[in-house]
Amino acid sequence: KPIVAVVGRPNVGKSTLVNRIAQTSDAIVHESRGVTRDRSYYDADWCGHEFTLVDTGGIEPMKSEDIFSASIRDQALAAAEEADVILFVVDGSVGVTEEDESVARMIKRAKKPTFLLVNKLDNPDREQERLWEFYSLGVGDPIAVSALHGHGTGDLLDDVVALLPESYEDEKIDDGILSVAIIGRPNAGKSSLFNKILGSDRSIVSNVAGTTRDAIDTVIERGDKKYRLVDTAGIRKKSTVYENIEYYSMVRGLRAIDRADVALLVIDSSTGMTEQDQKVANLAIERGCAIVVLLNKWDLLPDDHAREQMMETVERRMGMAKWANYLRISALTGRSVEKIWALVDSAAQNRSARISTSKLNQLLTDMREFGHTIVDGRRRLRMHYVTQTGTNPPAFTFFVNHTDLINDSYRRYIENRMRATFDFKGTPIRLRFRKKD
Ligand code: GDP
Repeated sequence: KPIVAVVGRPNVGKSTLVNRIAQTSDAIVHESRGVTRDRSYYDADWCGHEFTLVDTGGIEPMKSEDIFSASIRDQALAAAEEADVILFVVDGSVGVTEEDESVARMIKRAKKPTFLLVNKLDNPDREQERLWEFYSLGVGDPIAVSALHGHGTGDLLDDVVALLPESYEDEKIDDGILSVAIIGRPNAGKSSLFNKILGSDRSIVSNVAGTTRDAIDTVIERGDKKYRLVDTAGIRKKSTVYENIEYYSMVRGLRAIDRADVALLVIDSSTGMTEQDQKVANLAIERGCAIVVLLNKWDLLPDDHAREQMMETVERRMGMAKWANYLRISALTGRSVEKIWALVDSAAQNRSARISTSKLNQLLTDMREFGHTIVDGRRRLRMHYVTQTGTNPPAFTFFVNHTDLINDSYRRYIENRMRATFDFKGTPIRLRFRKKD
């Protein structure tokens, strides 16, 4: 999907704007829930045009004033590099600041379609001159918006989608080779792992061009199996500032995940599993990738206590995705790296599973007899039947009498029952509910 990045210095209202756009656009669909709700990216759909909206504000690490502007600049630069369209937000109630100017310089270099959005003008008609001031940034016509009130977001979205590239549809390559993405935070050990995999005697390696832009994939052959490691140029490119920016690794991850069947989520065990790791896991799950969580740098954990502690954090952070596969590895020593492929294969297999309608409905019968249901006043949830409506990942549609009675905990309950009955280890599954009287 094309990426629309929202950039600007802190406190100009980026997150409010992102939320506003998210609410305005038709469908923000999250059928398969990930492990965290807190997000800085949204899959949005405006009049049939799908795109991913990335809020760089959600990932600004800065607290101190000094590192602040450098970090904003880097964010802007990385955002500009990766995005298809940039929404540059400034604060109309404050006027042009030095930081705005430095962000503007980064954006201009990128030569991407940019919208200059002047936020916090609650009365744009009377505040025209405040708007004009922003012409000095040199990134085009300032557009008055009110993130808070939502003025103009519909028009803005029309203009944004008009500029999105069309060519993203055929991104998934369909040549029967399993696509695997190596994702994770900067320094988790992605490129070390990649090199270890390539260096293995068992792998025969070839580079192939990806379908889009500068994507380079690597196909490895192991015995009679082939795997496509997607976007490996991104892993190799240890470029200056970007590689250390969470935003960059996230967006890179997004691109890779879009084209992958299985995601290898590399975690740095020496620093523990962080919130950002959780976000990256979430991206993969929501986009329907099977995941194998690689607890890398296991060699750095000094004792059993540290190892136990690490496992506890992982369990807590991945609470909603207990079904993932875990492997303790060391990309440095090569420990357990060979074991990755068996987990990839089984996760991929489960991801393409088909469950017969009769087995599904047997489960439904069991649930009716022994399970919970939901009662709300005089209404009682009744599930009539269920059928599989998709694979990769498996999707199931339940026909029920009242869809609004299904809440999160009931969804989880059904998912748990499904997982206890069928083998979905390693893969997300999607549950949909349709009304039928
Ligand atoms: P990337 O940013 O995710 O690609 O991470 P790199 O592969 O560049 O690794 C970051 C640093 O961690 C490098 O100094 C690696 O040598 C080191 N590293 C990676 N994997 C391991 C590991 O399993 N054990 C140890 N001790 N160090 C590792």
